[in-house]
Amino acid sequence: MTVRKLFCCGCGADVQARLTDGKEVYPHRADLGALPFWKCDACKNFVGCHHKTSDRTKPLGCIPTPAIKAARQDIHKVIDPLWKSGRVGRRELYGMIAHLTGVKEYHTAEIRTVEQAREVHRVARELEATL
Ligand SMILES: [Zn+2]
Repeated sequence: MTVRKLFCCGCGADVQARLTDGKEVYPHRADLGALPFWKCDACKNFVGCHHKTSDRTKPLGCIPTPAIKAARQDIHKVIDPLWKSGRVGRRELYGMIAHLTGVKEYHTAEIRTVEQAREVHRVARELEATL
């Protein structure tokens, strides 16, 4: 069994996450079966990996709860069209979000609470209105 220390949003603490695969976390998604995931066995939440890279089991970020995952998706619905349209560069946009939320670097996958996600969403909507 492979374990790795990861922050789990459901437990609100660092946990020993266990490396597993899509067959366990998405049993009805045959297409995801071979993909790696890190799972917290205490709260059953999990996170995917940068599986397309050479370090294919590198976690995308902390382990989110379903509510945090949904809140992050709401952020992407606002910010992805912004940089995809070319109105602003992706790196530039992420830099602005980092600045406005007071973090050094912004990564959606590092959002740890629904409140944090709401704050980023608010900032993203402001940027959407001004860019
Ligand atoms: Zn947990």
